[in-house]
Amino acid sequence: MRIIQLILLLFIFTASVSCAQEKKDNQDMKSEITPYQLSDEEWRKKLSEEEYHVLREKGTERPFTGKFNMHKEKGIYVCGGCGAELFTSEMKFDSHCGWPSFDREIAGGKVIQKEDRSHGMIRTEILCANCGSHLGHIFDDGPTETGLRYCVNSVSLDFKKEE
Ligand SMILES: [Zn+2]
Repeated sequence: MRIIQLILLLFIFTASVSCAQEKKDNQDMKSEITPYQLSDEEWRKKLSEEEYHVLREKGTERPFTGKFNMHKEKGIYVCGGCGAELFTSEMKFDSHCGWPSFDREIAGGKVIQKEDRSHGMIRTEILCANCGSHLGHIFDDGPTETGLRYCVNSVSLDFKKEE
């Protein structure tokens, strides 16, 4: 178990070093560690037009239209871009805001946060740490004990039903 942890740490360290080196060459390069990377062309092939718009261009689906907004089945919500497990049905709550909402994420740094100053607002964007796809935004007005509301596009998610 220790060895696995060590290898994992080494991997994260190497990944961040190589990422920092690449950044010198390309200022637009994202500094987050997103191991799952596809070219723009590959993303376009993999995703539907709507998925591409939300996940890769930071779009937002219309409220109350998403397939998981009122979804109540037991299981795991995974990233629509890469399949990383992000939220469970236990973390989902009825926020009435029009998008699936969660009060926490599956532990392990699976979701990264980033300041978003678009549309004249200051919000915190949430992205998949594995592939960098846009998920939605996080707010601190949640009604549960965590006080958090992860407001996520249904389009950004897939669902694995509990067996
Ligand atoms: Zn992902």
